[in-house]
Parts: sequence; structure tokens; C-alpha cells
Amino acid sequence: MNLILMGPPGAGKGTQAQRLEKTHSIVQLSTGDMLRAVVASGSDLGKQFKDVMDSGGLVSDDMIIAMISSRIDQDDCKNGFILDGFPRTTPQAEALDVMLEEKQLKIEHVIEMKVDDDAMVARITGRYTCAGCSAGYHDEFQKPETEGVCDQCGTGEFTRRDDDNAETVRSRLQAYHDQTAPILGYYKEKGIMKSVDGMAAIDYVTDQLNAILG
Ligand code: AMP
Repeated sequence: MNLILMGPPGAGKGTQAQRLEKTHSIVQLSTGDMLRAVVASGSDLGKQFKDVMDSGGLVSDDMIIAMISSRIDQDDCKNGFILDGFPRTTPQAEALDVMLEEKQLKIEHVIEMKVDDDAMVARITGRYTCAGCSAGYHDEFQKPETEGVCDQCGTGEFTRRDDDNAETVRSRLQAYHDQTAPILGYYKEKGIMKSVDGMAAIDYVTDQLNAILG
């Protein structure tokens, strides 16, 4: 099963994708995570990506499409994948269709996580991730049971994204509305779009997603 999770930054795509990975035995493909790995490598390309990401803009379509295409070819994607953060522009959505057709694959579900923009700034600026296992936490809404210790792997080290600050978040939300939201119409026309209430409690959002995916 191949699906796309759509929604602005902070909608909870990454959190839900991690849960769906486990229950449906499919792989989360986050273009943001892939780009952050290139940035962490310290390469010249990584430096270019970092400048774009820190400004809240988008990396070039060609680069992203090539990256996702080679990732889909890897063995662990055979059972299916969840696209998180891709496609983000109409050219990316069109290129995805062409690419999947060549690979004799298709997207079965596109699910929009509906949220209020106003709540996204608070969600994003408070979030952090376990450095050991990537479990997600939040200063206010999702604290670990023991302060400073990851519930899942027991590690005491956490990371915050450089672009999770109030100023960059506003540019990222703007980029979503200008460039990504129009794709929703593209998928509605294809008849594969559904939506869930992304403002609900995390477990209830998961239930809504599972009800769609079966
Ligand atoms: P995310 O982790 O999805 O919030 O992405 C973080 C940043 O990576 C974005 O603000 C963009 O600068 C870049 N990025 C991630 N995915 C894409 C994409 N599909 N196309 C262009 N830029 C992307």
C-alpha cells in the first residue's frame, strides 16, 4: 500500500507516519529527513540545502524527485511507503505520477490532515526529537514520562530542528498555502483524496487514518 500524508508543517504527518509504519509494515519516506541527513553530512550540497531550509523555502523539484525515485527503488519499500513532505508542488505531483507509472506502482490513498494554522506555530516551536530513536516529543503537549529520558529507548539526548523557529515556521506555512495546498485539488479530481481532523488527540487521528486504510 502506497499513500501520501498531506498537511502543513506541524500537522502531525511525521508522528502519524511513524505509527502507520509499525501497524501496516510500510516505510515512511520523509523528504525533510532525507534532506536533513544530507545537511548533517556537511557536504557542499548539504550547505546549499541548509540555506534554503533555514529560510523556509523549497529545495528544487529536480533534486527532490531524483532523491525520492532512488529511495523508492530500495528493497524496504517493496511492501509500500508513506510519503511525508512530498509532493510539495504541482510539478512534483505530476513527476511522481510519471515516475510511479514507470515503476508500475501507484498511490492508493492521499490523506489530508486538516489543522488550524494558528495552532501550528505553537506545535512546531515546542517540538523535539529523541537523538537515539527519533521518537517525537513536545514541551507542552507530549512530554516524556520521566523528564529528559526517552520513553521508547531510554536515551537522554534530544534534538531540535534549526528551522523550527517562529519566523521560519511562518514562511513554511506560507509556502504550504502557496505551493502545496493546490495539489489537494489535483488529487481530489483523481478521486483518491480523503481528510482527517488533525486537531484531534494523536490517538484519535491514528484511529481516523486506520479507518481509511483498513
Ligand atoms: P519538512 O521536514 O517536511 O518540514 O521539510 C523541511 C524543509 O525541507 C522544508 O521547509 C523545505 O525547505 C525542504 N523540503 C522538504 N521536502 C521538500 C520537498 N518535497 N520539496 C522541496 N523542499 C522540501
